[in-house]
Amino acid sequence: MKRTNHNGTLRRSDEGKTVTLVGWVAKRRNFGSLVFIDLRDRSGICQVVFDENMAEAVKDVRSEYILQVTGVVNLRKDPNPKLPTGEVEVLAKEVNIVNTAETAPITIADNTDTSEDVRLKYRYLDLRRKPLQDNLILRHKIQMIARRVLDEEGFVEVSTPILARSTPEGARDYLVPSRIYNGRFWALPQSPQIYKQLLMIAGMERYFQIARCFRDEDLRADRQPEFTQIDIEMSFVEEDDVFAVVEKLMRSIYKELKDIELPEHFTRLPWEECMKRYGSDKPDLRFGNEIHNISAIFANTEFQVFRSALESGGEIDAIHFSGIADQYSRKTLDKLQEFLKAGFKVKALAWLKKENGALTGSIAKPLSDAEKQAINDEFSMQDNDIVFVIADKPAAARTALGALRVKVAHEHNLIDHSRTEFLWVTDFPMFEYSEEENRWVAAHHPFTAPKAEDVDKLFTDPEHCSSRAYDLVLNGYELLSGSIRIHDQDLQEKVFEAIGLTMEQAKEKFGFFLEAFRYGTPPHGGVGIGLERLTMVLADTENIRDVVAFPTTNSSLDLMSESPNYVDDAQLEVLGIEVKDNKKKEA
Ligand code: ASP
Repeated sequence: MKRTNHNGTLRRSDEGKTVTLVGWVAKRRNFGSLVFIDLRDRSGICQVVFDENMAEAVKDVRSEYILQVTGVVNLRKDPNPKLPTGEVEVLAKEVNIVNTAETAPITIADNTDTSEDVRLKYRYLDLRRKPLQDNLILRHKIQMIARRVLDEEGFVEVSTPILARSTPEGARDYLVPSRIYNGRFWALPQSPQIYKQLLMIAGMERYFQIARCFRDEDLRADRQPEFTQIDIEMSFVEEDDVFAVVEKLMRSIYKELKDIELPEHFTRLPWEECMKRYGSDKPDLRFGNEIHNISAIFANTEFQVFRSALESGGEIDAIHFSGIADQYSRKTLDKLQEFLKAGFKVKALAWLKKENGALTGSIAKPLSDAEKQAINDEFSMQDNDIVFVIADKPAAARTALGALRVKVAHEHNLIDHSRTEFLWVTDFPMFEYSEEENRWVAAHHPFTAPKAEDVDKLFTDPEHCSSRAYDLVLNGYELLSGSIRIHDQDLQEKVFEAIGLTMEQAKEKFGFFLEAFRYGTPPHGGVGIGLERLTMVLADTENIRDVVAFPTTNSSLDLMSESPNYVDDAQLEVLGIEVKDNKKKEA
């Protein structure tokens, strides 16, 4: 089909050219005998003018019709500074109505007022909106840069199976029944973890894949049942080698897409210190307000609440904010207290404000003057500052203040959005205790290596056994997880044992994998980078659906194709499956 230019690219320098454009009618206006049409294609919008000779030809044309127009580029009398093509317009000489369109059920505009559910049902129309198209293009560019940079670094892109065996990322599997082997199931991969490690055993040395991953988790606003990882694995490496590749990749992405120079190396913080200072393993470093452990001030305190917290192995943590004390009325503080008690199981939230040089607040009375002065000095408090204090078990006190840190920063705009803050969090705990299953489970996945000096703690002190797992955090988002893996069969078996898998169970689940370990497994490690997260941060959106072409709702439904859906009885029959409570007939 003839087309000489893309609509959004026409500029003043094109004046006088005869062009043929195609596209959708974004807007139509009649102005006396003239008709103005904004013609949209992927590159943008250009105004086309139909004079009295041409107006008749477009008299029936409405929004979203497709036109092919040939005309001459003229300078506009009234330029529109908001449009990149705002200095020019095309005076139509010929028009071909390529297709008609019914009235769209959603408003196709940059800022649409249509509800998200309706937009999801008509996603193909929603995707005509420029912000969404821009996000898909951004995502594409990230993938292209990743492919190029990783290729330059000697990585080979390898596809691994989607119909696979269950992988151990800790979520629930999506299962696919086998027709040929009734009663047997595939699991869609939660990540290509096992395959990529097998590729290292196979001698590929450097692998990557832009991999779909599937996790049947309870849904949260920022999750989708399927998502994408830039999945990487490398042989003969230690943490520094893996970090260097990821840092190079991030530097290229930020330079090429944002013109931002990232530092050569990103800050690193061991998990323990991260929790102490930020109460979170994914701290947003675009603002300060770190947590201070002020227990020492209260070593001999008379204040019963603090004393008993300390005596029972707790600590006293505090966080300070400047210039906002007057925004915390009693009511606001009560609400904040409720939020922390409910979400983080802390007993109470205390506070101290500085007003007209005096320290007031919930702990002003029970504390001695010296104790209050010590808090004041710890934070160099000024008038209108507020310090929040929690005395509790260390983990609870820290995570509660960590959440409060983020909440207050958001509510009072303390975050500098022009900053990009990457942080490696290292030395994650090897295990976490599952109350549900009453046992220690792998905090990352069971192929993660323990720190060499902590191998002895696998059975004696699992709680304090650190691993060689790391995360990369970007502006408070967990962008990737990864680890140096175990490459020694004995150690791998010990770790299975530590998480309560007997050798029989381990063999049944990962027998083929354990067997592979026997044939010369190189030291190896890698990461899985969350592509959607990365795109969200670069696109500056908090809605994951904005960076996914065909997303599901928070409750895992595709409103457009109405999936998941019922299937024919005949399909179930060949799979040897009978549905217990079949709602199909009612549906
Ligand atoms: N498979 C891991 C994950 O999905 C990433 C990795 O360890 O490479 O989190």
